[in-house]
Amino acid sequence: MSIFRPIFDRSNTPDIQRVRHELRKRTLRVASVQDLTPHMIRVTLTGPDLEGFVSSSPDDHIKIFIPDLDGTPTRRDYTPRRYDPQTGTLLLDFVKHDGGPAAAWACAAKPGDQLQIGGPRGSQIITGQIDRWLLIGDETALPAIGRRIEELSVGTSVTSVVAVPVVADEQLFVTAANHIAHWIHRPSENADQADGFITTLEGIEIPDRTFVWIAAEASVAKALRRYLLEERKVASKWIKAAGYWVKGLVDASVKDIDGGH
Ligand SMILES: Cc1cc2nc3c(=O)[nH]c(=O)nc-3n(C[C@H](O)[C@H](O)[C@H](O)COP(=O)(O)OP(=O)(O)OC[C@H]3O[C@@H](n4cnc5c(N)ncnc54)[C@H](O)[C@@H]3O)c2cc1C
Repeated sequence: MSIFRPIFDRSNTPDIQRVRHELRKRTLRVASVQDLTPHMIRVTLTGPDLEGFVSSSPDDHIKIFIPDLDGTPTRRDYTPRRYDPQTGTLLLDFVKHDGGPAAAWACAAKPGDQLQIGGPRGSQIITGQIDRWLLIGDETALPAIGRRIEELSVGTSVTSVVAVPVVADEQLFVTAANHIAHWIHRPSENADQADGFITTLEGIEIPDRTFVWIAAEASVAKALRRYLLEERKVASKWIKAAGYWVKGLVDASVKDIDGGH
């Protein structure tokens, strides 16, 4: 009897399924604003336009439409942190930083204000035989990382490595998964430096079948992807990396670094 071994077994590699959603612009109302941590503002949005809102993956993004600092209409990317169809609410978490109209809008937001949003246009759903998740990011990635940790099924192994300015910026996630959290503290001005992440990652085992998800300032996300490929020999199929913002540039991102997947 001969044993047939496929040369390339797809079940051994993760896959990213792209799903499209109906693109609709919605006008929502601010229900509440909360200082979640010293550098993060949570805005709860509501309104009948939320009807039919779909967000199938924790790293989905929507566009928010806001006035630029000189009043010209502009748009920015934000993660639907949590959508609850029961209460008809959508949470967005905004990093507080200087010089950005989206951050300024969130800092000034109050109940009753309006916000137009569009999307998500689509979702990238990561599937496959994943034994463990390694989620790496800065404060802009915390909404996606928190949502992924909360949505993972019971007993799934997940490790997060997140850089925030101060201890009080750490967040606690309620999850059925087995979660280990590593926090890095560095001032916001150093958000374009990867060293703290690499030092932390050097102490973390990355066994086979670990899916590594990265989102941070673009040069950091690129450096971390390179470190994982070259030093830790993680196969590129097991890494999804994105630059969520670019230091010094307005409305800039690199959503899929080097093909990402
Ligand atoms: C897919 C995706 C999902 C995202 N989800 C979120 C989210 O849920 N929450 C969130 O807060 N951000 C998120 N971001 C990042 C956010 O879109 C950017 O930080 C955006 O540039 C903020 O817009 P702004 O108008 O405040 O600043 P901009 O006008 O774009 O930039 C003004 C200046 O501020 C700098 N800057 C931008 N962001 C930061 C920052 N975080 N810290 C320090 N300096 C900064 C820029 O380099 C520029 O010099 C996401 C990005 C992507 C691509």
